[in-house]
Amino acid sequence: MEKLKPCPFCGGNAIFHTKSNNSPHYSAGFSFEVECEDCDMKLPERYEINLSLIEDGKINVLNDKRLEAIKKWNHRCGAN
Ligand SMILES: [Zn+2]
Repeated sequence: MEKLKPCPFCGGNAIFHTKSNNSPHYSAGFSFEVECEDCDMKLPERYEINLSLIEDGKINVLNDKRLEAIKKWNHRCGAN
């Protein structure tokens, strides 16, 4: 997976910040934002990831917006 580039404004470390736990009964879901640790600049949208445990013991990814969030963040970096 691509990595988050440093913050376009201050060069700080960009992070996935979990905002809430949206877990329905048989899966785990989180909504998160991408933001800068140092200056608190963040993407305006919230993104989601949902996971479940399947019968063979693996984690099944039902919905994963991490890449979309990374692309959005990195595009913003490139525009500056
Ligand atoms: Zn910053």
